[in-house]
Amino acid sequence: MHVIPHLINGERISTQERTAEVFNPSTGEVIQRLGLADRATVQQAIDAAQAAFPAWRNTPPARRAQVLFRFKQLLEANGERIARLISEEHGKTLEDAAGELKRGIENVEFACAAPEILKGEYSRNVGPNIDAWSDLQPIGVVAGITPFNFPAMVPLWMYPLAIACGNTFILKPSERAPSSTLLIAELFHEAGLPRGVLNLVQGDKEAVDALLEAPQVKALSFVGSTPIAEYIYAEGTRRGKRVQALGGAKNHAVLMPDADLENAVGALMGAAYGSCGERCMAISVAVCVGERIADALVERLVPQIAALKIGAGTSRGLDMGPLVTAAARDKVVGYIQDGVAAGAELLVDGRGHSVAGHAHGYFVGGTLFDRVTPAMRIYQEEIFGPVLCIVRLNSLEEAIQLINAHEYGNGTCIFTRDGESARLFCDEVEVGMVGVNVPLPVPVSYHSFGGWKRSLFGDLHAYGPDGVRFYTRKKAITQRWPARANHEAAQFAFPSNG
Ligand code: NAD
Repeated sequence: MHVIPHLINGERISTQERTAEVFNPSTGEVIQRLGLADRATVQQAIDAAQAAFPAWRNTPPARRAQVLFRFKQLLEANGERIARLISEEHGKTLEDAAGELKRGIENVEFACAAPEILKGEYSRNVGPNIDAWSDLQPIGVVAGITPFNFPAMVPLWMYPLAIACGNTFILKPSERAPSSTLLIAELFHEAGLPRGVLNLVQGDKEAVDALLEAPQVKALSFVGSTPIAEYIYAEGTRRGKRVQALGGAKNHAVLMPDADLENAVGALMGAAYGSCGERCMAISVAVCVGERIADALVERLVPQIAALKIGAGTSRGLDMGPLVTAAARDKVVGYIQDGVAAGAELLVDGRGHSVAGHAHGYFVGGTLFDRVTPAMRIYQEEIFGPVLCIVRLNSLEEAIQLINAHEYGNGTCIFTRDGESARLFCDEVEVGMVGVNVPLPVPVSYHSFGGWKRSLFGDLHAYGPDGVRFYTRKKAITQRWPARANHEAAQFAFPSNG
């Protein structure tokens, strides 16, 4: 069986001492194997990135941007192939995979503006004949560690911008859906990226720990679950690295009594069940303000959830594919059992969902719980599956308090026609990304993405302007050219314009 290689110094490198299985979640079959990098292989990638850094750092930003332009064109030309690979290994539908790629390409487009975004600031005559400016310099070798659920988009949040800023990069993608990530990295080389600027090591904890421990790796971007994000942040910062670590989520949608219900129902269906709920911005809690809107919501959601079109991700015209692994399916089923035992009302039960011809696929149907309370595990924890919980409350203030008390603060949204409620919600809610009548408020590439509380460890959000700050070090330069004949006496008072 084909063993998926690493990509180091522009070459495919195969290691086979330790391997992992890659499944097609729609069939339950092992379709590929993946070589897991040991420390020596990771060191090879670090050495390649280190060696490529001086020349890449000195490559004019406009030339770096030209490679990124060609990369964008190649991503578009290979869109269908990439979407198919994502769908085969992840299970999400082809349309959904194409959507994540498009959002990834947006980040390449942003990085194409490298000459503009690296301009810095300039002040003339800050003192007599003294000029000052700031320079945005690259950090050096930086690394990214990414999750399974966006194998194209999340790596594209990181390395196009890091590389546009003059850094060299090592990517450690998820073991579960590696093929599209590898293809995309190869396309970047086809676009003209010099060897060693981007390296990709397949691997697990061993590879991650090697990156954390390597003194040559100056910064780490991580996206994945909260326990691992916290570990990466603690271990990376302890070693003096710059770290941004994005974690898990439990995203609430608030439905006000005046919400446009038909729109809200459609939006909730997509946000809760799209990608089988395996999105860090998925809506997993609907907070209904008042019994009337809650009853109306339930009445509309139940038949629509029962009618979800579920099948192999690679088939056309579906709403939802399977979960990524058998373990992910079992975990989601465990949460459903737990919710029932805790006394939540199970209105639609997705357990035991079968798809004709795919008896061994990891399918769970759309699931809906009503009358969920904050004391229940299904409310507190990230399920990462197609399970929506309804919580009934009496006021917007109670809804905001509920959301603010949750350990996660990634995304949230409010459905209302009332500007005053929307404004209060945006002001008071302790969440990093907020939608008003927008269920998945994922910022566009020229804003930045990040949650609050235990959804992000670090100060700077991912991509966009914060990404530029993360992948550069600012240097302030003050310059004076006194006339040769002008010898000044030593000055012992602190220099000032006073
Ligand atoms: P994960 O934390 O299991 O894995 C993420 C990465 O960490 C992978 O590359 C994996 O190989 C590595 N890893 C796993 N265990 C490790 C360990 N013990 N030590 C070191 N490295 C380890 O996450 P996942 O299951 O791939 O992805 C789903 C999670 O990611 C969910 O919690 C989801 O909310 C989160 N996520 C967050 C965002 C965001 O922007 N906040 C985006 C996408 C996904």
